[in-house]
Amino acid sequence: MVDKEFIEGYSLFRKFKIRVSADLQEWEAVPINMSCPQCKSLQTFNLLDTFLQKGSYLIQSAQNKVINLEYECQSCHSFTRHFYVYVNEDLNEVYKVGQYPEWEIKMDSGLEGALHKHATTFRKGLVCEAQGYGIGAFSYYRRIIEEIIDELLDSISDLIDIDQREQYEEALKKTKATRVTQDKINIVKDLLPSILKPEGMNPLGILHSDLSEGLHALSDKECLDRAHHVRNILTFLVNQIIQTKHSAQLFTASMQSLLNKKK
Ligand SMILES: [Zn+2]
Repeated sequence: MVDKEFIEGYSLFRKFKIRVSADLQEWEAVPINMSCPQCKSLQTFNLLDTFLQKGSYLIQSAQNKVINLEYECQSCHSFTRHFYVYVNEDLNEVYKVGQYPEWEIKMDSGLEGALHKHATTFRKGLVCEAQGYGIGAFSYYRRIIEEIIDELLDSISDLIDIDQREQYEEALKKTKATRVTQDKINIVKDLLPSILKPEGMNPLGILHSDLSEGLHALSDKECLDRAHHVRNILTFLVNQIIQTKHSAQLFTASMQSLLNKKK
């Protein structure tokens, strides 16, 4: 500890599973990369050793305590970021209970354009996520998926290899016969092109299982994790589809001009 990904990206109250030492002296001070408003750029921040102390005494054990992690910008040495991290009794789970400056509600610009009228709903999801309202965040993201699923699956069809396209089109027809989002996803999830499967992982498969589980039994904290998955998958799919289509267009255009020159 402390984990870079957790400090940089986790929203408040989102649980992070990790084995931590009760002895704060043993915590590894991993630097993080975040923006510095003072330097107006992305900078490396280093953990200050003030977290070892509470007031004027040394913290004996991290168990069941909130630790104040203070990071200082390596470049200007004046801007600091604070993260208040709760360590559970069993020393195997941590989550943020506060952070300053607050978790950024930042919307990916490509996604904002692609989502059009759904961008507002997406932003509401982000706000909920930042506050640790997992049920709310998950519901907003699920709503977007439900509303754009047909469009999303349609736009994938251009990315499918020629020899599999017929099969995909067939499946696509079947998706129109049901109004249930999970069923639609289930019909096409195994036909995804490799460009939409980073490291062999199937985003539609994960989305399917995340959406299938009922919300009623889950707590805000449990929903936060799912909301985070759904948001990442949505962002990945939309961006990847836009990018692939864009580079295919560029490719066709440059091939076209090359061929014209030859003539
Ligand atoms: Zn700075």
